[in-house]
Amino acid sequence: MRSFWGVLACFVCCFDFFAVTEDDKPIQTFVIPHSHMDVGWVYTIQESMHAYAANVYTTVTEELSKAAERRFIAVEQEFFRLWWDTVATDTLKRQVRQLVKEGRLEFVLGGQVMHDEAVTDLEDEILQMTEGHGFLYETFGVRPQFSWHVDPFGASATTPVLFALAGFNAHVISRIDYDLKDGMQKDKKLQFVWGGSRSLKEKQLIFTHTMDQFSYCTPSHLPFSNSSGFYWNGVALFPDPPKDGVYPNMSLPVTKETVHAYAKTMVENIKQRAAWFRTNHVLWPWGCDKQFYNSSVQFSNMDPLMKYINQNSKQFGVTVQYSTLGEYFQAVHQSDLIWEQRGSEDFLPYSTEPHQAWTGFYASRNVLKGVARRASSQLHAAETLFTRYRICFPDGPVAKDWALDKLRALRWAVSEVQHHDGITGTESPEVADMYLQHLTQAMMDVEELLAALFLLPHGLDTSDITGSLYGKTDVDEGLEQHVIVYNPLAWNITTIINTTVTFPHATGL
Ligand SMILES: [Zn+2]
Repeated sequence: MRSFWGVLACFVCCFDFFAVTEDDKPIQTFVIPHSHMDVGWVYTIQESMHAYAANVYTTVTEELSKAAERRFIAVEQEFFRLWWDTVATDTLKRQVRQLVKEGRLEFVLGGQVMHDEAVTDLEDEILQMTEGHGFLYETFGVRPQFSWHVDPFGASATTPVLFALAGFNAHVISRIDYDLKDGMQKDKKLQFVWGGSRSLKEKQLIFTHTMDQFSYCTPSHLPFSNSSGFYWNGVALFPDPPKDGVYPNMSLPVTKETVHAYAKTMVENIKQRAAWFRTNHVLWPWGCDKQFYNSSVQFSNMDPLMKYINQNSKQFGVTVQYSTLGEYFQAVHQSDLIWEQRGSEDFLPYSTEPHQAWTGFYASRNVLKGVARRASSQLHAAETLFTRYRICFPDGPVAKDWALDKLRALRWAVSEVQHHDGITGTESPEVADMYLQHLTQAMMDVEELLAALFLLPHGLDTSDITGSLYGKTDVDEGLEQHVIVYNPLAWNITTIINTTVTFPHATGL
């Protein structure tokens, strides 16, 4: 009896603390379930697929299919495509199509990876976005509407321009200078309209949301528990997922005993963040790196917690709902505010604290950066050359499917390395080797294609393809070597090409 009244007294006292006046509208919280799945970084793609990534999409699909209010945003396409092509059953695929149709599983960003913004080339950014978007459009008939660029180390003004021109309706960034973010929070300026290009005027303007200091991870500190909170599936285990499904660091379950303490912690965090934004809506990312590989335990804890908050929303001054990114932006849009416009200044370099500028990655791992560039230009040359070949010789001897497979593999490898832990050099040595291996293998295969385009002996007049041909006259047959130079650009260039030969006679045409 005593303990019952004790609990009740605590409830009254706690609710008093949160009480709001009649006129206050509760803060509308958009809980966005997501998993940040680095395409590389510490573990290779294969290791990640095995340890957690495949389970993310399998269990998310199953859990979303069980309850209509649940949502999830899928970001990087490389893992999703590998899952779709090699793991997903017909039933899971049917469920995914249904969830996409209902708008409950939302593809945001939609690139193969979340590309770096400081050391990547614009053409490669477009390539990797096109690769992912092409798959989504062909498979589901959808085009992503919103970006989720929450982990690149600094934000370039080129990115919002690219995304606006790609048809995105809003852009999300996070890693910007700590001091600047602090000021933007205080002044409620985390949201603005970004015009990254002076010359492109209105068509490149895009509404931009900067994540607050909690960034894309759920705040995990619980005052009532020694373990972290809101990460009920724990931490992904490598190399193998545990057979009994028990992962390290699983959060305290939500029970009758813990639900109020959980709700209080969540509401406090929501209110703290609400103060940094102009509208009454809070984007509350629920997830972090490598999360939702066991979605069942995630949702079965969050469901009752959210229900409890909503049942007591008057006292808490907060409502919570699962949401896609699109639903959040729709609500902000409906608030009909006028937003400040930002010009073409970058958020680069990125600093996390005084004297901690993230600039080392601009020049680190130069071999990987160099191979990535060479692979990209070889891909561009091979794609244009193959296109010209097909136009000139639709029935030529180079098999279309054989050629497209090789081009696809190189396109995939070039896309993959644009990841913000790829070309940046912030990955483990093992993962750097993986990128290099994928790039060099695909480049060798494309070299085979290039050789076939020029050299297959079918009496074709290759001068139609090459435009200019360098050859030889009166050279010993045994020493004969050909150097063919192809300019994949759409305009003429004058350049010097050095070729080292081991014999004294060489002529050019
Ligand atoms: Zn990342």
